[in-house]
Formats: sequence, C-alpha cells, structure tokens
Amino acid sequence: MVSIAAEMKVKANSPFSCPGEGGEMPELDVQIITSGGLRIPAHSSVLASASPVLGSMIKRPQKHRISKQKIPILGVPPDAVSVFMQFLYSFECSEKQLEKYGIHLLALSHVYLVPLLKQRCTRALSEGLTIENVVDVLQLARLCDAPDLYLRCMKLLSNNFKAVEQTEGWKFLQNHDPSVELQILQFMDEAESRKKRIRRHRQEQGLYLQLSEAMDCLEHICTEGCTSVGPYDMDPSKNMDPCSKFSTCHGLQLLIKHFAACNKRVNGGCLRCKRMWQLLRLHSSICDYPDECRVPLCRQFKLKVQQDGRGADARWTLLVRKVVSAKTISCLTLPKQKRRENLNNPKSS
Ligand SMILES: [Zn+2]
Ligand SMILES: [Zn+2]
Ligand SMILES: [Zn+2]
Repeated sequence: MVSIAAEMKVKANSPFSCPGEGGEMPELDVQIITSGGLRIPAHSSVLASASPVLGSMIKRPQKHRISKQKIPILGVPPDAVSVFMQFLYSFECSEKQLEKYGIHLLALSHVYLVPLLKQRCTRALSEGLTIENVVDVLQLARLCDAPDLYLRCMKLLSNNFKAVEQTEGWKFLQNHDPSVELQILQFMDEAESRKKRIRRHRQEQGLYLQLSEAMDCLEHICTEGCTSVGPYDMDPSKNMDPCSKFSTCHGLQLLIKHFAACNKRVNGGCLRCKRMWQLLRLHSSICDYPDECRVPLCRQFKLKVQQDGRGADARWTLLVRKVVSAKTISCLTLPKQKRRENLNNPKSS
C-alpha cells in the first residue's frame, strides 16, 4: 500500500485540500488500481473535482456497492500514477517528477482532462526535448493533441534531421508509423520552401531598397549637389564632405557624368545610359512635386504619361509601388533621431 493515503491524512489538515465539511476529510472510498498491482486509496470527491473524466466514472450508479469502488489506471508506471494522484490532490508536482514522468503525465492529463497538469507537462517536455527523445515526444504530442509541443518537436526534428535519422525512435517510426514519417517529411519540405520564399523576398526587398536609395541620391544631387555633380546653377566643387549615402551617391554621380557625355546614348544601345534613363523615369513616377522638382526630365516624363493617357504597364507600376513601399519602410526603420532630422529637413539625406 502506498503512502499517498497517509500523505492525504496530513493534507486533510491543510486548508487547500479539504473537500469535506468542517475541515474533516471524507472516507477513502475509491481505490486506484495500477499496472504493477499497486493500489492507491483515494477520495471520490477529490478525484471528481479535479478530473471530470474520473468524476463521470465515479458517479456511475452501482447497485450493490459493498466494497470500495476500483478505478483502473493501467499502462503507465505505478509511480507515474502516484504523481498523478498527488497532483489531483495538491495541484503540484516537482520539476524532477515532471522530468521523470513527463511523458506519462501528459498522457494521463490528456485522458483524464486535467488542463493545468497538461500545461505543465507540455512546457517541461518542450524544455527537455533532445535528439534522442524528439520522435517519441512528437508522437505523443500528436496523440494528446498538444499543438505547441508538436510544433516544437517538428522544428527540432527538421533542424537536426541528419542526427535524428540515426536514432532508434526514428527507425521504429519508419517501420511502424509511415503516416507520421510522411507528415514529418512534408513539414520539412514546407519549411524548406518557406525559407526559400523568405530568402527570395529579402533579396527583392534589398533591390528595392537600393533603388529607393538611388532615388534619394538623385534628388539630393539635383537639388543641393554632391562632391562632383550638382545642379546646373551650382558649382559642385564647392561642395564639402561626402554625403551619408556616398557609396550609392558616388556611383550615381559617375552614371550622370557618363549620361551627359556619352555618344552612343540610349538609342545607340548604351546600357549605362539606359540605366540612367530608367532611374530618371522611376524618379518621375514617384515624384510628388514635379513643378518644383529639379531632377532632369521629371516633368517631361509626367507629361508623356498624361499624353499617352494609358498609364504605365503593369510591371512598371508594380516596380514603382515596391520602391515607394521600400522607401516608406526604410524611413520608418530609421532611428528616431535621424527620422526627426529628416522630417525637419526632408531634402537632406
Ligand atoms: Zn551625395
Ligand atoms: Zn552611355
Ligand atoms: Zn521630380
């Protein structure tokens, strides 16, 4: 006989576990039967209030009840059942107990509907996940409907698949549960393509950011001038230190110089001129103040769009929209101080 009953006598004096009236514990009227033949006496009122499933088992009417009602909890180690009973009485269990019987306690808490214990088991099992136990825990999480734990297992598994593949758990799974194996492989496949999608998106985002920065530099060169190129009415050599986006700005200045001097031009098939032409067109597409704008061809491009009357093609429109949103994002992610400076003096960048 286990000491739980004795323990309960002690607990009967505690204010937390006194379902009986006047602080007196009712009779031990149920017996839990475990796999090892271990019997744990308990109070039906306590079990019923902690677990609706046990409650419904106990309430079932019994005609000639002479002896104590027996409730079998089989298939898990007797000590795990003891810890389970302890939790039903006290809503407590130690980290050590969770570490040792977490898997069994998760199953018990799921079957007997004890959400608080289920929560604690899920957390403890998540923290104790290893390459060795991940396959077992995954299967249990699936059976016990513990989605958070399931996802944790899947992530660990797909990040360490080479090592997991070598474990006994994985080999057993392959032989006995091919549907779970398939699920895991599908998850890994989706995770991989999700990663690829994110990578591609980042690359694209980087490109739009570069374009948006080029747009800032173009405006800045044509308005206030930079180290070697400036507006026609301003001498660039007077200009001081390199600006804050000088790596982009410098490249753009070289491109502008080339554009001004090139003999082949766009129509002659010059790729650099073509690039400059596209940048000027892009600027015009996002420029909000064409009347005051000092960027060359800004108004001309706007006029041409109006005259054509049919707007730009879909790809160009998409490009413009992406550059505008990249610009917005980079403005929003600037440190506060910098943003304030930009707001006070929007032309300087
Ligand atoms: Zn500059
Ligand atoms: Zn050229
Ligand atoms: Zn403009």
